[in-house]
Amino acid sequence: MDYYPLFMKLTDRPCLVVGGGNVAMRKVTLLRKAKAQVTVVAPELCPELVQLRDAGEIEHLERSFEEGDIARRVLVVASTDDEAVNRHISELATASFVPVNVVDRPELCTFITPSMIDRSPLQVAISTGGASPVLARLLRSRIESFLPASYGRLAAMLEAFRDRAKARLPNPEIRRRFWERLLEGPVTELVLSGRDDAARKIVNEALDEGLDRRDGGGEVFLVGAGPGDPDLLTFRALRLMQLADVVVYDNLVSPGILELVRRDAEMIYAGKRRNDHALPQEDINRLLVKLAKEGNRVLRLKGGDPFIFGRGGEEIDTLMQEGIPFQVVPGVTAAAGCASFAGIPLTHRDYAQSLIFATGHLKNGTIDLNWNMLAQPAQTVVFYMGLLGLPIICRELKAHGRAPSTPAALVEQGTTQNQRVLVGTLDTLPELVKEHDVQPPTLIIVGEVVALHERLKWFRPGSDHTAHSLFSSHGHAAPAAAAAEEQQPA
Ligand code: SAH
Repeated sequence: MDYYPLFMKLTDRPCLVVGGGNVAMRKVTLLRKAKAQVTVVAPELCPELVQLRDAGEIEHLERSFEEGDIARRVLVVASTDDEAVNRHISELATASFVPVNVVDRPELCTFITPSMIDRSPLQVAISTGGASPVLARLLRSRIESFLPASYGRLAAMLEAFRDRAKARLPNPEIRRRFWERLLEGPVTELVLSGRDDAARKIVNEALDEGLDRRDGGGEVFLVGAGPGDPDLLTFRALRLMQLADVVVYDNLVSPGILELVRRDAEMIYAGKRRNDHALPQEDINRLLVKLAKEGNRVLRLKGGDPFIFGRGGEEIDTLMQEGIPFQVVPGVTAAAGCASFAGIPLTHRDYAQSLIFATGHLKNGTIDLNWNMLAQPAQTVVFYMGLLGLPIICRELKAHGRAPSTPAALVEQGTTQNQRVLVGTLDTLPELVKEHDVQPPTLIIVGEVVALHERLKWFRPGSDHTAHSLFSSHGHAAPAAAAAEEQQPA
């Protein structure tokens, strides 16, 4: 190792910053965050430092650096624009064993400051030893995405239990295992999802009962996986995907997303495509209960958002009745994903002041919707599950007063590399769709905003359009007749 990593306590301890510019300001800010007592030596201060001085936050010595300034400092930072002065400070500090940092001159430093993530009391520091600060920053943002903001709260909560745990479990090895078990169990998830009281209760009980207690009960995560592109997952979704013991997923969850699930998790396919109801909804509800009761962390992974045409409500209703803990994680719904990736804003100052999500699902050859309401002008209507019913949708909207020339689009496999957008009008779209070999899932958008697609389209899927569905590769071959496979919510 070129550097020895450590975290230093600076609360109320005297630190020296030489220089009064913007760089000095950044160093002072960080030192102040660590509650250090800061003295700045500089003939002149930048406006921000003047503010800090006037507020009594820092001491200011209004002159050039003098040798004596180093005495009785626990840490020195040099950031003057005079090369010789910086070197002199570095030599003096090194000779008197005071840690010194010269900004941007690693060879003159006895300590460097890392890139860091501050979730105090939790802190993560990253260093490349000065080799590539940019790489350190990139790594930091990646780690940051895996460290939900509430980890800081978790650390703070655990700190409050430390003394009690020490008294209760004096053997450090046993204590370590105790904490490990609790943190790998439900406590972490509870805090991350904002249920601090429940987490505290579990820690309390575990401390009362000692080590032998099992946490037992499982939990269900009802998670929205978004419309297809794995990049559109939420941080929380990804975290829970990597935590799950069992995954119950349906065919709208793209293979790229399934790849991100913990490798050794058990995978259960739950359907459901039209004509392929792998599991009826009732059975799914019961399956979730059974798996959780066996002590599993069950990930119920759904396309889009669980509460938008996802029957998420029914699933948690059953869990609620059975007293099984669960959480719901929203996802990017198909309408939002497809609209963005098709360059079709769903609302617009001039063209659409309201927005309706409707199901175009066919039942006994008809679609049971309030067509009068859907045919109102100046609104956008998005139809989920509307491929088979498209001719009826267009016919009814026209019959109830929407102009035949109203722009309408079908977005096929939105947000994926297979995305295709067919744009027409209420008059022409059904024919247009017939002429193309359209693969589910598809979404229909009706309204003046659709005309903006021509100008605003920006997403260019990489692959040629291959006439197969990205969504049907879970060992279920896509039938030749695309329409036969249109997804429906059962
Ligand atoms: N809960 C989901 C919707 C489930 S209903 C959500 O919030 O998005 C299934 C319907 O969603 C499909 O029939 C289709 O209309 C639509 N859909 C889902 N993903 C899609 C995608 N990538 N492209 C186009 N439509 C999609």
